[in-house]
Amino acid sequence: MSVTLVCSSCNAIQTFHVAPFSVCGTCGAPIDPAIRARLEAELRYSSLRRPMLIQIGAAGTSLIGGIMIFFLILAPFDIGTYSISGESVTGPEFLSRMGVLFFANAILMVVIAFGILSEKSWARPVMLLFWCGSVIANLILFLRDHDGNAGGTFVLSLIATGVSTWYLYGKDSVVQYYDALKQREAARTGT
Ligand SMILES: [Zn+2]
Repeated sequence: MSVTLVCSSCNAIQTFHVAPFSVCGTCGAPIDPAIRARLEAELRYSSLRRPMLIQIGAAGTSLIGGIMIFFLILAPFDIGTYSISGESVTGPEFLSRMGVLFFANAILMVVIAFGILSEKSWARPVMLLFWCGSVIANLILFLRDHDGNAGGTFVLSLIATGVSTWYLYGKDSVVQYYDALKQREAARTGT
C-alpha cells in the first residue's frame, strides 16, 4: 500500500510507502499538514487488518440480528415457536412481554454489525455496552427467578464481559486497530 499526491509547488507526483512524510521529494516544499495527516492516517490504517474476533463479531451480530428481526416480523402472526424462560408462549404473547427488550437487542446487534463493517471507532464502546447490558439483564433474571441456571448465566456473562473489556481496550492489536480508525476519522473531519 502506498499513497500518492501531487506537490502543490512543483506538481511532481509523489508516492509514499511509509509514514511519516513531510516534504516533497522533488522540490523539498513542505506538504500541507492537513493533507499529510489524512494520508498518513490512511497509510497507517491500510497496514492494519481487522482483528479476528472483531471480524467474527461482525459475522455473529449480522446473523443473530437478522434472525431476531425475522422472528419479530413473524411473531405477530404466531408463526414459529416462542418461549420465555422455558415456558412456551404464543408469538403475540412473546411480543407483549419481551418485544421491547428483544427489539432493542436486535437493533443493538445490527448497529454493532454496521459499525464494525463500516470501520467506525464507535463500534467498540457499543460492543462493550452490549456486554454490560447482558450482565445487567442476566442479573435481573437471576434476582427475579432465584434459579441456578440464571445464576450460572449471570456469572458467565460477567466473565465474558471481563474478557471482552480486556480484548477491546487492552489487547495491543485491537487497541492499535481502533487507534488507527480514530486517527483516520479525525484526519477526515479535520479535527
Ligand atoms: Zn514539489
